[in-house]
Amino acid sequence: MDDEGEGPRTGQAAGFATRAIHEGDMPARGVAEQPVSPPIWMTADYLYEGLEHYADVINERRPGYVYGRYGNPTHVALHRVLASLEGAEAAWSFGSGMAAIHTALTSLLRAGDHIVAQRTLYGGTFALLTTVLPGYGIECSLADPEADAVAAQIRPSTKVVLVETLANPTFRVSDVAGIAAVCVEHGVSLVVDNSVASPYLFRPVELPGTALVVHSTTKYINGHSDLIGGSVAGPRHLIERIRHLAIQQGTTAGAFEAWLTLRGVQTLPLRVERQCSTAMTVAGALSGHPKVAAVGYAGLTDHPDHARAAALFAGKGYGAMLSLSLAGGYEAAVRMCDALRVARVGSSFGGLHTEICHPATTSHRQLSPEDRARAGIGDGMLRVAVGGEDPADLVEDFHQALEKA
Ligand code: PLP
Repeated sequence: MDDEGEGPRTGQAAGFATRAIHEGDMPARGVAEQPVSPPIWMTADYLYEGLEHYADVINERRPGYVYGRYGNPTHVALHRVLASLEGAEAAWSFGSGMAAIHTALTSLLRAGDHIVAQRTLYGGTFALLTTVLPGYGIECSLADPEADAVAAQIRPSTKVVLVETLANPTFRVSDVAGIAAVCVEHGVSLVVDNSVASPYLFRPVELPGTALVVHSTTKYINGHSDLIGGSVAGPRHLIERIRHLAIQQGTTAGAFEAWLTLRGVQTLPLRVERQCSTAMTVAGALSGHPKVAAVGYAGLTDHPDHARAAALFAGKGYGAMLSLSLAGGYEAAVRMCDALRVARVGSSFGGLHTEICHPATTSHRQLSPEDRARAGIGDGMLRVAVGGEDPADLVEDFHQALEKA
């Protein structure tokens, strides 16, 4: 029931990759061999010596496990890794990124409260804030993710500011450090969705002012496009509240997803380092191409957020996603995507397959053409989520497909 559990610990002094691999290591648990790969506890519930034993465990007087929603040893190991990689005291895992965001927000907000959120949020989060939470008396204002713009929206009832580190699909970099300072000044909790950047590049809870970091672990944290999951990390007292909500709302990750995530997260630094470097190669190769009007990637030195990204991500990379705006508009985008052989049209990101999509007709279709233009999402814009393929194969693929655009 304790989300810290016991087990071999490498500690925060160890490097990021060492912690990604070892923080999930299992204790021996009374058998001669300790497994290298953490096992999966595929059970809904547990057996006890008798009634008193069960009562002691459920009342947290003795260690032990109760029921799948309360977490099992696989979850404990996963939560330990997630907290360690975020530089946080504790973490909890969820059945989806949306469950994580919903639980994080409802742990901090009550009827009558107000939230300031980034204008260009992921569509599902935007819908949660503008169509679900208002029904529970929680009001939302939108702002550009800049310190002044956020400060201008703060009211006495504001309890939370919600931003994403990298906006999707424009890949503008939010002023998370400046916004965190505004939150400290106003006594407001900052929640950062760090799904696009990943904790390899950036750890928001290390900034004073950040209350919680949320992830769609579906993306880079698991990294293999084979599950839906989410996480929240932060100080122990807030994660304890979130644990109770996850148990009561039934949003804790399933055992199999927790186990897969525990396996996937071990290669997070290897994957993201490589994917960022390939994204830089692809962005460089396509910028200046006669059929490409603009490449949205903060790694390019002429990108307006280049310096901010370099500071925030401490030079480790600029992310593995970029946007391509084709000079020939929507028709050119369709022709190019039809011609791709390695990259494929797909709806998500963070896995090893390079995926490309057209935000104006899919993820951002609900926005009016004016709102899309304001957000910088044109009809010729494609979102590219760079995978783990050979950089040369991807560059060649994009070049041959652009010939047909
Ligand atoms: N946050 C961001 C930035 C996302 O892109 C997504 C999904 O694409 C989510 C949250 C929601 O995550 P999930 O699909 O795992 O519920």
